[in-house]
This record gives sequence, C-alpha cells and structure tokens, in this order.
Amino acid sequence: MVKSSVLGFPRMGVLRDLKKANEAYWADKITQEALLAEGKRLRLAHWKIQQEAGVDIIPSNDFSFYDHVLDHIQLFNAVPARYTAQKLSPLDEYFAMGRGHQKAGVDVPALEMVKWFDSNYHYVKPTLQDNQTFTLAADPKPVREFLEAKEAGIATRPVLVGPVSFLALGKADRGSTVDPITLLDKLVPVYVELLKALKAAGAESVQIDEPVLVFDLRPEVKAAFKPAYEAFAAAGDAIPSIVVATYFGDIVHNFDVLPAFANVRGIHVDLVRNPEQLEPVIAQLGPNQILSAGVVDGRNIWKNNFAKSLGLLQTAIKALGPERVIVATSSSLLHTPHTLASEKKLPADVYEWFSFAVEKVKEVSILAKAVTDPEAVRAELDANAAAMKSRADSTRTNDPKVKERQEQVTEEMHHRKSPFESRYAEQKKHLSLPLFPTTTIGSFPQTSEIRIQRNKFTKGEITEQEYDDFIKKEIDLAVQIQDELGLDVYVHGEPERNDMVQYFGERLQGYVFTTHAWVQSYGSRCVRPPIIVGDISRPAPMTVKESKYAASISKKPMKGMLTGPVTCLRWSFPRDDVHQSVQCQQLALALRDEVLDLEKNGIFVIQVDEPALREGLPLRKGAERDAYLKWAVNSFKLATAGVEDSTQIHSHFCYSEFQDFFHAIAALDADVLSIENSKSDAKLLKVFIDEAYPRHIGPGVYDIHSPRVPPEAEFKQRIQEMLQFLRPEQLWINPDCGLKTRKWDEVKGALTHMVNAAKQFREQY
Ligand code: GLN
Ligand code: ZN
Repeated sequence: MVKSSVLGFPRMGVLRDLKKANEAYWADKITQEALLAEGKRLRLAHWKIQQEAGVDIIPSNDFSFYDHVLDHIQLFNAVPARYTAQKLSPLDEYFAMGRGHQKAGVDVPALEMVKWFDSNYHYVKPTLQDNQTFTLAADPKPVREFLEAKEAGIATRPVLVGPVSFLALGKADRGSTVDPITLLDKLVPVYVELLKALKAAGAESVQIDEPVLVFDLRPEVKAAFKPAYEAFAAAGDAIPSIVVATYFGDIVHNFDVLPAFANVRGIHVDLVRNPEQLEPVIAQLGPNQILSAGVVDGRNIWKNNFAKSLGLLQTAIKALGPERVIVATSSSLLHTPHTLASEKKLPADVYEWFSFAVEKVKEVSILAKAVTDPEAVRAELDANAAAMKSRADSTRTNDPKVKERQEQVTEEMHHRKSPFESRYAEQKKHLSLPLFPTTTIGSFPQTSEIRIQRNKFTKGEITEQEYDDFIKKEIDLAVQIQDELGLDVYVHGEPERNDMVQYFGERLQGYVFTTHAWVQSYGSRCVRPPIIVGDISRPAPMTVKESKYAASISKKPMKGMLTGPVTCLRWSFPRDDVHQSVQCQQLALALRDEVLDLEKNGIFVIQVDEPALREGLPLRKGAERDAYLKWAVNSFKLATAGVEDSTQIHSHFCYSEFQDFFHAIAALDADVLSIENSKSDAKLLKVFIDEAYPRHIGPGVYDIHSPRVPPEAEFKQRIQEMLQFLRPEQLWINPDCGLKTRKWDEVKGALTHMVNAAKQFREQY
C-alpha cells in the first residue's frame, strides 16, 4: 500500500559505459547516432533495474549525457549566443557548453562548472543575460524520455529542476548584471508549457527538485516560490501532480516558504541527513498532502539500517496514514556507484555492509512492503539485522587501541610550542631561507612511464625492489631538476602516489577499496573514493622512505608531503556509524605520527594539504558550520602541532575564496600557506592585511591547469601585485597547485621564469 520511489539513478552504467561512449564521441571514434543509442540503452537498462526491484515510482529525465542542469539550459533555450552562433548540432552545442569546443575553426570555452551543494558532483551554472528570454526547446527531453519509457511499458515520474532552484543556482553572464531570480516571470510560463506537454504525454505526476530550500535564502529567492507554484496551481488538471523534492539538508528554517506549495501533491525531505525534521515537516503538510520520506541514503554506500528507517516511516504513517507516505531515496542515487555485484575483491564480511545504487533500489522497495507487512519480507529484514550486527560487532569497526588513544588527546596537543615569530626565527636559521623563498606544491609530472611501472607493479609483473628502484630514479630526476632550477625548498615529486587520498588510505588500517565503485564527478569524469569502514590507525610509516631518500640526495631543505585529515575524510566514503569529527581525529592522530616520523628522519619542512577543507563547510551558516570548522581545524592542528619550533609546517588549498572562513584558515596556525591565486584578482589578498595575518603565504603565481608557459614579465607583474597586499618577508613564490598533470618541458619553462622573477625581487629588497 505504501509506495516506493527513487529520485534519480546513476547514469554511467555498470562499467562506466556512458563515460566511454561520450569520450569516444568526443574523439570522433563513434557517431552521434551511436552515442544517442548508447544513452537509450542505458536509460532502458536503468529503468528495468528499478522495475524489476518493484519500485513504484521510477524517475525519468534523470539521465543526462553531461549534467542535468545543463540539460535544462538547453531545454529552456537559455543557451548564450556565443554557442548558438556556432550553428553546431544540438548535441554538440550542448557539449560545447559543458566542456568547450575547439574543432574545425570553432573555439568556445565551457560555461562555469561548480560543486553541486556539498557533494563532489559538479553542475554547469546557468549563465543568463540582461535581456534573457526563455522558450521551450523543440522535442523537449523530459517528454521524449517519458515517452521512451512508456513505449517500453514503464510508467515513470519525470524529474525537473524547479524554476526557483534553476535561477538561484545561475548567474549573470559576463557583461550582464541581471539578478537571475528576477527572470522568474519569464521562465514560469515555459515550465507550464512543459508540464502540459508531459501531462498530454501521459505523465500523472512529476518530481520538481527545489534543493535550494536547504540553503539560507535571500528574501528575493524565498519570495519567488509563491508566484511560481501558484502559476502551476492555476493550470489545474492540465498538468501532472507535483512532488517538490528537497535534499542534502533540512527545510525547517524555510518553513515560511511552504504556503507556496499549498497546492502541490507532496513534499520530499531528506531524512538521512536530517531525521529530526520529520515531525515538524509532517505538522506543516496540508490535509491531503503526501510526504516522500527520504530514508535510503543517496550519498553514501552503507546498507540501509531497516530498523531505523522503519522507525521513521512508522512515525510518518501514524500521523498521515499509509496512503500519504512514500518511501524514497534521500536524494538522487547519482552520488553512489552502480552495483555492489561488480566488487569481487572486497572482504566477505565487509561486502555485506554495503549497498550501491542497484541494491538501494531494492531497499526502497523492501521498506515500502515492510512498513505495513513485515512478514512478507521477513527474510530480508532478518538478513539486514544480521548485517547491521556484524558491522557493529566487527573488530574492523572497533579498535579499542584507537579509542583509548582518542581519549588521551589533550588540548595541549593542538598547539605548537611557541608563537609564530619565535618559530620562524628558528626556521629561518635552520633552513637558511632567503627572502621570497621559492618552492612547488608537491607533485611533478606523472609521466606515462610512471603509470606503466605502477601498473606493472600492481599486476605483479615487476618486483617491489624493481619498483622501488624505479621510484628512486624518478626522485633523483626531480632533485636534479630542482638543483638546476635553483628552487629553495625542494619536493620529492610524489612519483609513488596514484592519488593523494587513496595512497594514504592504502597504508592505513580502517579503509577498504573497491574496483568498480565509480561515481560521476563531472561530465565523463568519475572518482572512486576509498571507503572508511572502521577505526583508523597507522600500522607503519607511509611516506618516510621516499622523503628520507629525497632529503639524502638534496642540497636544500626537502619538504615532506602529506594529505590532511579533512581531505582524507572528505574524499572518501565516510562511516555513518560514528560522527565525522571522530573519524577525522583518528586520521589526524595517524598523520601526527607520520609528521613526527618525518621530523625524526630529517625532514624539517612538512606540507599537509587540505584542499577539501572548504567543501566540507555545512551549507548553512550558524551552529553547524561553526562546529565543523572547530573539529576540522582541530584535526589539522592535532596532525601538525607536535613538531619542534624549528620544523616548518606548510599547508595548501586549491582555491582563493576563503574570505568567508578566513578565521578558520588563520586558526590552522600553519607557518606557510600556499593558495591558488593566479586566476583571481590579487585584491583577494587584501584580507591578509585587513586581518593582520602574521604568517607566511605563497599565493600561486601561475595557473598550472594550462599548458601555457607564462613569460618572466608576467611572473614579475604578478609578484608586484601581490606585494601591494603582503609584506615582502611574508611572501613565498610558488605555482597554484601540484604539477602532476603537466609535461616536464612546461614545468621547467614555467619554473625557470618563476625562479628568475623571485631572484630579481630579492635583489630589490
Ligand atoms: N601535493 C599535492 C600535489 O602537488 C596537492 C594536490 C592538490 O592540492 N590537489 O599534487
Ligand atoms: Zn592544489
């Protein structure tokens, strides 16, 4: 009686089929027809999976070749003129917006792409004009895909990004100043037209995603919901019934918006992230409205805890009756890998703890039955309870030694011995650093030779000794090149690292790895995050061998290179049975040991990268954000503060927007920070003067994402600009980020100019 629903399914397919098809199409290896056919095959396969699992409400229009927000840009004919002017086919125009197009005399860059809420998925930002108009594209994708499913005998619920979220997530194009939300009255009629077309095609209901409801909203955005949803209400039976979906947060703080939804059929809320919003939301529903209860996690890979979900669902049913409750995934399953069935190498006990998308779909269906008739799914419920117990009792999850160590963490362990001024005096002597010291961020080119050797080693085709010798040769080369370039603080180049998180995960207790658990990050790019399953500890040093060797052959200080605790946590699938702050502290303790081992082995400059610190920021300001910053900063400090004054701690961030959490960055108490800055206005650095930031900073002087070698004059100009905002004795000279994606000749060219520029400033000051 209770219905089950899925908000969206991953698009890539079992073996990243969509990635392969897209990339083949981009490389002119398959035709447009072949790509479209592959898309069709994947959609059908994914609908069938859900149908066979017994899901009642199956989504359509959740598929996308690149990104679903980008789909809507084209759907509403909101494509900037620089793309339409190229007269490409609709599919090529679409990819041109997603990834740029540089072919046959056409050269247009991509639209801006940014992180989707606090996930690692990226969406293409709607980029709107002052005189923006909207019309419905011919043969609209949601209608087409609805009919495609219908033809296959599958009734679906189309998914749309809602009008308020579409605009609120957009921005004015270069040269325009429009506040996108003011375009609402132009956009809403197009939605009405689309909804009518869906109804005419046979759609009974639609899912309209308004995830911006979990943000703190500007009054203008809040006010936009009412006219939009009143216009939908006015269309009456000419359009499908609407379920408004929210996810990744709670909507309680935006309850004043809810009257706008008085006429929609139902509201979906994320009860994995915010189970406490259940009762307040129930209290807000109108007498006939439905609650879509998101209890199966769309963001993580853990098997659902049926007992817990059923508790929430029963509360809902008690208040609303079974007809008014839908069991759903918390968000789209886009953020989970395709199927657990592909994992052949996971330890058997651990395998039982996970559910990927295919398995989550079944969970939704089982829960919907269990909530009114548990006996019908008794075997599934028992198996689930057994899996929960096995996980809770496992020695993998619980390591008393780790817990004991966490209990012994003291406040004092988070603080360096002396304040920065006295530390720096020691460091300067110890490391004999000049003014404007030059360094790099860690990695040097990951050449195809490095990848070949690593593959051979993984497959057992070469011995560990052979692989180690190869790595040593790579380090020799990196050191020799740095000698030639005349840098001041060296790095070993990270040739031994596949990935900055996986490398550490593989050396820590408490992690497991998958072979096929890919998740879309953007376009055709997928990531395969390691999984934290248990208490984390470090069985042995992780980086000492390489750093120590590098230091032994180098004339200048060698910088040790670690990935920070917050980044290790954020770029993994975390546990859901202990708070993230606990996992982060465990990572911090493991890294603290590593930092001290490096120091003991003669490494007196140690960089702890935290590029993911900012993306972990809770979506709303206030208590939750403050709490996050506190434990995140404390984890970094716990990892780094054990060293002597004369040892220098660096940290690195790959972004320059930290104005809104500057105090957290400052609280890290790192001796030297390197940040991305080359593409931003140097004025952003003003915050360092305004806040009287006492420590040292290396704002990246050139963009490593481009193969271009900037001329020396550009370096000088950039440094000059920086000196308007930073004191000379505070400024380090370094690139924006690691150099692993570049070629050696690009690196040598750019760093030669960088070092020359630094030397010239040294003479002037
Ligand atoms: N040390 C890492 C590198 O140089 C940092 C990478 C990053 O910031 N994303 O590759
Ligand atoms: Zn970086």
